[in-house]
Amino acid sequence: MPAEFPDFRLGGVLATSFTATLTERQGDQVERIPTPQRLVDWLRVNGLAVDSCTNAQLERAYELRESIHAAATAAALGDNLPASAVETINDCSVKGRAAPVLTPEGAREWRLSSPSRVEDALGVIAADAIDILAGERDGRLALCASPTCRAAFFDTSQSRTRKWCDMNTCGNRQKKARFIAKHGKNLRTAK
Ligand SMILES: [Zn+2]
Repeated sequence: MPAEFPDFRLGGVLATSFTATLTERQGDQVERIPTPQRLVDWLRVNGLAVDSCTNAQLERAYELRESIHAAATAAALGDNLPASAVETINDCSVKGRAAPVLTPEGAREWRLSSPSRVEDALGVIAADAIDILAGERDGRLALCASPTCRAAFFDTSQSRTRKWCDMNTCGNRQKKARFIAKHGKNLRTAK
């Protein structure tokens, strides 16, 4: 993978892994799928291999991503879902023509109607978003506690008290900040 592109943040939930291709949304934003090829790479890693992607398809992917982000944020806050976001998610879902198939090993794979149909892959992502937004899966939508992130994530922890979108990034940074704050305080009292 070319080193000039930021790496992917992969999670267990397809729809929120997709919204996490834009991180630090409330800070210095990091675009992790800045080119059509990077979207192709991301889709392959997520079991939705396509052989190409046009600029228009990438634009559509961004539209879907931001619609999922807006709807998931509203759901996490208990607000009404924005109508335009719902429309885009539904449109992507309806236009997708991917089918789940079962491998001989008993795993699920997605089969697209054509390898150039990025729309099919977006349809799978939109359907996943609909599942979590509609409460069809066990879990709770929440917003990351990091003030520069505020990503919507799907909390499947038993206690439903997860605070960060990702323990290895936002969670760690918060812990480090707390440590530094405490360390600084200790230094002051030592004086
Ligand atoms: Zn976060």
